[in-house]
Amino acid sequence: MNRNAKNLLICAVYKDFGEVAALKSVDLEVRQGEFFTLLGPSGCGKTTLLRIIAGLEIPSDGSIILNNQNITSLPASKRHVNTVFQSYALFPHLSIFDNVAFGLRSRKVREDDVRKRVSESLELVEMGALINRMPDQLSGGQRQRVAIARAIVNEPEILLLDEPMSALDAKLRNQVQEELRRLQRKLGTTFIMVTHDQAEALVCSDRIAVMSAGEIVQCGTAEEVYDYPRNRFVAEFLGAANILKSKRVDGGVQTEAGFLALDKPPEWEEGLIAIRPEWIKIGDQPQINGVHAVVQEIVYRGSNFDLTLSPGNLRVRTNAFKHFKIGDKVWLELPPTELVVLED
Ligand code: ATP
Repeated sequence: MNRNAKNLLICAVYKDFGEVAALKSVDLEVRQGEFFTLLGPSGCGKTTLLRIIAGLEIPSDGSIILNNQNITSLPASKRHVNTVFQSYALFPHLSIFDNVAFGLRSRKVREDDVRKRVSESLELVEMGALINRMPDQLSGGQRQRVAIARAIVNEPEILLLDEPMSALDAKLRNQVQEELRRLQRKLGTTFIMVTHDQAEALVCSDRIAVMSAGEIVQCGTAEEVYDYPRNRFVAEFLGAANILKSKRVDGGVQTEAGFLALDKPPEWEEGLIAIRPEWIKIGDQPQINGVHAVVQEIVYRGSNFDLTLSPGNLRVRTNAFKHFKIGDKVWLELPPTELVVLED
């Protein structure tokens, strides 16, 4: 961890709620200007960690350091950190403009300054045309943008986003994910987002911390955690994965799908190997790591087909131009470069 850089350091943070250990020794560094995501299933502790960063919760042990300053017990209002909550929490009786202006006015900022800053933040989220509307006259996506404008109007160092897209329908969510990513790049503000949605995490984030049961299981770029999951939990949480029980043998592993050559031998005698469905090639008999397989199941997904094949119940994603029938005999190739040796 770099103690001299502009960053947020979470150092050995524990949080107990009575008997429940919500966080167990969490260490993290979030660098200034990055889009960082806490990803994990319900109950893994991600909201608790976000609330600790916001100052809404005090850790049972450990410390929070922002730009070399220990802020562990600094009240939320004194931190340069703002939160966009799941519900957006807009005041229903105030116009969009007044919602965004609220915090500045309560801090007695001069009115002409308020006007300028509120207009700028609403322009940034492309809501400049709707400043006189009331919250109930907006769509879910527009309400979310207003909530973001309100959170960035006093230029926080860090913006925290708690499941910011959970109130949106699936189609809008895809659009908003890309917008949020663009906005973060434009602002250059550090964003820390909590989500249980792996697709959302992959689209938005520079780096992702995958959490389970109060711990960080793996932290890395979106590509690192997707392409090189550390263990079965991360491999399966980030997307579809073939997980093969394996025994180490000379030059590779023996699996349910047969012998597979590996570039580097695993450290275990018996363990798990993963490969994502889109990395398995289907076609001519390959030179290496070929599996002669039979199509057992076909699912059409519009842009592609998902096939399940024996042996090994392998799942393979093919493009929509290739048509197969149940019972077809095919050659699969599991390239050694795409096989990931899991730790557990
Ligand atoms: P979700 O996605 O469902 O919001 P999460 O990953 O954000 O889940 P947290 O809300 O951080 O998880 O909760 C972590 C654990 O701490 C859970 O077991 C939860 O029940 C417990 N917990 C959280 N807040 C409290 C509280 N105020 N009192 C007691 N237990 C709590």
